[in-house]
Amino acid sequence: MRPVIPFVTRISLDEQAHWLSVFAVHLPDMDIRPLTALSEAERQAASVAIIANPEPDELRSLPSLVWVQSLWAGVERLVSELEDMPLAIVRMTDPQLAETMAEAVLTFTLYLHRDVPAYRRQQDQRIWAERPHRLPQERTVGILGLGNLGALSARRLRANGFNVTGWSRTPQIVEGVACHSGPDGLDAVLSLSDILVVLLPLTSETRGLLDARRLALLPSQAGLINFARGAIVDTTALVAALDAGRLSHAVLDVFAREPLPVDDPLWEHPSVTILPHVSAPTTPSTASLIVAENLSRYFSTGEVPAAVDRQRGY
Ligand code: NAP
Repeated sequence: MRPVIPFVTRISLDEQAHWLSVFAVHLPDMDIRPLTALSEAERQAASVAIIANPEPDELRSLPSLVWVQSLWAGVERLVSELEDMPLAIVRMTDPQLAETMAEAVLTFTLYLHRDVPAYRRQQDQRIWAERPHRLPQERTVGILGLGNLGALSARRLRANGFNVTGWSRTPQIVEGVACHSGPDGLDAVLSLSDILVVLLPLTSETRGLLDARRLALLPSQAGLINFARGAIVDTTALVAALDAGRLSHAVLDVFAREPLPVDDPLWEHPSVTILPHVSAPTTPSTASLIVAENLSRYFSTGEVPAAVDRQRGY
């Protein structure tokens, strides 16, 4: 008999239907259903659930849960909302997600490197003027976070000729990348980064990490790309640095409040490019293969995949 697996989400019905259709193709041996389609006995028996922004109380209605497979890579909300539930949280670690993020990092690093925002402003005023051109090897890109997404992004930037330096909690090795760790390491990376890319998880240690003092360590005219979580950057300090002309431009894909409220002044800031949390969306066709692998292994060997370390928060 196929195992019954609840799909517990707060995503739209259309998105839910799309995921279920992809699961049907890639996980034909499993009976994956929205929570509402499970009988009481099936709820009582479920030891694993697939989740995407789940309502915590819905997970509490599954008393035998041992672990949950999230469809998303970021887990700060799950770690806080499921604090009292002793289950293992497995996040999405799809190599395709890292490829998609590396593509976004390269795209927007080149956008800043080639001065696209400034040329756009010149066009608005019909100004025909060449701006100073720098080679990628004359530019250092700093990456905060050298995990699945940061490490591949660092390699992609290296392949494009940039000097790359990176920062992580514990020492990491990425070929061709000057890697740093710890608080002193952060200051060193910041002081070198003509373009700073944030790819850290949001934890109690990284919340508000890029405050006024740390932003002031960036070289004059540096650019910032935040593809991680909005609350890692102090927006007031960032806007002050942009207004003062200390920093040149910020590309923001993530915000403390999402969607960004329509009346937020960031929308109209001339030195800010806003993206609606799209730098690395999960791709259902590849992510479902990761889910299939994890669930198949669990049902054949009982092995629960590597889970989030709740103490560290990622
Ligand atoms: P990951 O594999 O867990 O890597 C996290 C990296 O950050 C690791 O290198 C880790 O250090 C480092 N780190 C964590 N806490 C730190 C601290 N206090 N000080 C210094 N370094 C610290 O995560 P990932 O898969 O690369 O994803 C990173 C984040 O990207 C996710 O948490 C999510 O919020 C965000 N994301 C955004 C999008 C989007 O579309 N905008 C899409 C997917 C993910 P160690 O190497 O020492 O562990």
